[in-house]
Amino acid sequence: MGRTNESPLGKVTEAVKVAIDIGYRHMDCALLYENENEVGEAIQEKIKAGVVKREDLFLVSKIWSTNHEKERAKANLNKTLSDLRVDYLDLLLIHNPMGFKVGNDYLPLDKNGLVMPGNTNFVDLWNVMENMVDSKKVKAIGVSNFNHEQIEVILNKPGLKYKPSVNQIECHPYLTQENLINYCHSKEIAVTAYSPLGSPDRPWAKADDPSLLEHPEIQAIAAKYKKSAAQVLLRFQIQRNVIVIPKSTTPKRIEENFKIFDFQLTENEMETILKFNRNWRAVAFEWGVKHKDYPFHIEY
Ligand code: NAP
Repeated sequence: MGRTNESPLGKVTEAVKVAIDIGYRHMDCALLYENENEVGEAIQEKIKAGVVKREDLFLVSKIWSTNHEKERAKANLNKTLSDLRVDYLDLLLIHNPMGFKVGNDYLPLDKNGLVMPGNTNFVDLWNVMENMVDSKKVKAIGVSNFNHEQIEVILNKPGLKYKPSVNQIECHPYLTQENLINYCHSKEIAVTAYSPLGSPDRPWAKADDPSLLEHPEIQAIAAKYKKSAAQVLLRFQIQRNVIVIPKSTTPKRIEENFKIFDFQLTENEMETILKFNRNWRAVAFEWGVKHKDYPFHIEY
């Protein structure tokens, strides 16, 4: 598995430069995406040109599942910092609660197509990440793709020094995640919605998968505000206090996705959109269903 939704590398630097010019400050990165070097090039250029200062950016990255073991986790972070050309991250996440067999293969699968687990557990990785905060290489730490029981395990860790700041999860109107969001907010854990447009370019999409951007009621709400369906999907998250990270390498869309602060959905519209939930996942990790830490066996 390489970059999940493979944006052409040449387009990444340009897209990040356009985004910074438009006003984006939060960059969601990961070793897994294999493009942090291109992101770093854009950041360095914009800092040099005086467009933005390092402290104005909010740089997020993640420890990948083959790197849950201490020394590998440290190497993962160091590579990210070096590729992004910065000396600290604002937020470092455990990309996925499932640890994988160590090796060069990002997704080591057995002959049945199931992921080969590692012998680590995410609580040990959390200890390593707490040390990364103390060493000032990261300002905050969090998780991604964790269910509430897994978060609870971290919160109940004896001697917990830093609790997770964020849980980054798939979230959009077909997967509204109300229970998990309420749980996280009740613990003062912020939630970031990934694949907020339903990840239409994911390589594993099936012909009969639902399409959010073409949902007639979303389109009707969009028309009312003279906005696009994408803008409604992003505004929906902002209005429920969820951070949102759309991906685009198309300058026009990068700009469009930023213009969501000049209109407001009504309470009725918010409720209508919430009712589209069908617990449908664009990113279901089917290869992980036998892993001890597979996060989606329970409802939230
Ligand atoms: P997404 O943001 O829902 O969808 C991206 C797709 O939508 C791209 O094909 C993009 O096309 C298109 N698009 C963007 N803006 C549009 C607009 N205004 N109108 C129409 N189409 C538009 O899905 P995602 O890429 O899966 O998720 C977004 C980010 O979440 C990722 O970049 C990553 O940082 C993060 N993520 C995290 C995890 C995790 O496990 N933590 C998993 C998945 C994703 P173009 O690029 O061609 O414009």
